[in-house]
This record gives sequence, structure tokens and C-alpha cells, in this order.
Amino acid sequence: METNYRVLLYYNYVHIEDPETYADEHLKFCKDLGLKGRILVAEEGINGTVSGTVEQTNKYMEAMHNDPRFADMVFKVDEHDGHAFKKMHVRPRNELVTLRLEDDINPHETTGEYLDPKEFYEAMQDEDTVVLDARNDYEYDLGHFRGAIRPDIETFRELPEWVEKNKHLIEGKKILTYCTGGIRCEKFSGWLVKEGFEDVAQLHGGIVTYGKDPEVQGELWDGKCYVFDERISVLVNQKEHVVVGVDYFDGEPCERYVNCANPECNKQILCSEENEHKYLRGCTHECRVSPRNMYVKEHDLSEEEVEHRLNQIDETLKQEA
Ligand SMILES: [Zn+2]
Repeated sequence: METNYRVLLYYNYVHIEDPETYADEHLKFCKDLGLKGRILVAEEGINGTVSGTVEQTNKYMEAMHNDPRFADMVFKVDEHDGHAFKKMHVRPRNELVTLRLEDDINPHETTGEYLDPKEFYEAMQDEDTVVLDARNDYEYDLGHFRGAIRPDIETFRELPEWVEKNKHLIEGKKILTYCTGGIRCEKFSGWLVKEGFEDVAQLHGGIVTYGKDPEVQGELWDGKCYVFDERISVLVNQKEHVVVGVDYFDGEPCERYVNCANPECNKQILCSEENEHKYLRGCTHECRVSPRNMYVKEHDLSEEEVEHRLNQIDETLKQEA
């Protein structure tokens, strides 16, 4: 694989005056450099992931480190064989991660104890510890720490309510939280502390850092790590690869995410190439027969062919029943 490209992942909770103006200027700066990616800017800081050549990304990191606000910002760097995004966006936001709490959390004031990968690895194996995934259900389903609790939430802002309803799972234990790069846990672990949970810790630098750590090498991670760019997932555990994802249609081991072909649904489902064709990439019958089904359009299927495949699905369902 050619690896003259890189993907950067980074954040910093630091005050940014006038995020709108900063976002405009920063977009121009990134475009001039030739980067592609997605960056959020808020009064509380910056959260970004961008791709570019080694030269472009080096220039970017250097320029950011020359800004006193981002002087100590950590960049997680992945080698890649091309851009991981189609466009460059810099967007002003009210929050870097959407929790919409009544009393917002400032991670500089309230947050869980920071654990480096080695400390997290050791703490995870303690009997009185629970590991709580701070990500969404579809992220968990592709890969997670062995034995971690899976909150069945589709968006981060549902997490506090989920905790309130499921307190019994974590009460009285040491709580370890983790997310992709660490930014969500900064706030979420802070919220847990504020809610009165006494022993709360977070994986510093997130899963991505954990996978690169020369000592733990991603151990106790099963599956792959979901990422929000065209790669969709990255490897974490360098010692073994245990597949935990299962095909939406037949339950077979699967690590391939596709979006439902009905644009009004767009649900992410794990499915094999074979099942994508068989089920017209539709997560339900309604999505398969939707007049807007993109799979049917992409493959230019005739009405007869669609009918034929729907009949085959019926046959499979009958056999299963
Ligand atoms: Zn669907």
C-alpha cells in the first residue's frame, strides 16, 4: 500500500473567540493547504479529522502548534493510501460533541481520571471495574473492548438518559469509559462525576491511541474501530483479530458496513457483498421496494429482476420459519 497520505484526528478544549470567523478563516487555510476533512469549531474548542499528503499534514500540524491555543494539541496520525474525505468542511457549532446538557461540562474543571493505555489495560481486568462504551450502538457492533457494556443509543446525546435508566449496571463500581479519540469521554466522564459516581476514569487518547501503544498493542480489543471517514473502520488489536460484527441478514461474522439503499432510511447495516445483492441493500421490505432505492438505480435492475429477487427473499424467509 502506498502510504504517502495521512489521516489526522485531533481535538482541544480551549476557548475560541468568535467561532464563526475562525471557521471561515480556517476553512480557507485548510483548502489552501490541500487538505480534506471535517472540522468543528465552537467557543469551547476544536475537533477535527483531516486527510492529506505527509507534506500537507506536516504543514498543518506545524501551523496549529504555532498557535498558542493549540500548542500542546495531540494529533493522532494514521498512514493511508489517499484522501479519506471528498471535501473540506469547517463548521461552527455550539458544542464540539452534542450532549445538550442543562449545565454544560467544562472538562478542564470536571472530568474523569485520565488513564494511559497501559493503565486502562490493567484497570479493565480488575474485578470491581465496569467498562462502559461511550459511543453509539453501530460503533460498538463493529468492535469494542472485551466485556464492555453496550448502551443501545444511536446518538451521543442519548447517553446521559441511558445511564439514568441503567444505573444499576455501573453503580458502586470503578467506571472506565472510552471512545474513538477521547473527546466524547472528556465530557461524558465529567458528567458521570457530576452525577455523583465516585470512581470514574477515561481512556486518554481513546481507542486510536490504545491501538498504537507499543506496549498494549490494542490487546483486549475485539473487532475493528469505527471511524467517521471513508475508511469506515481501522484495526486496533495488533496481536489478534476477533470478529464480533455479525451480518444483519444472516448473523454470520461480518465487518462490512453499508448504508441502506433507501435514502430516507440510510441505516448502517453490516452485510456481506452477497447479501447486499440478495436483499437489494434494503434493511426492510419497505426499503427494498422504495421507489428511491439506490441499489436498484445503481445496478439498473429491471422490474422483473427486482421481482425475482424479492421472491427469492420470500423463499429464504419461509425456509427460516
Ligand atoms: Zn432501510
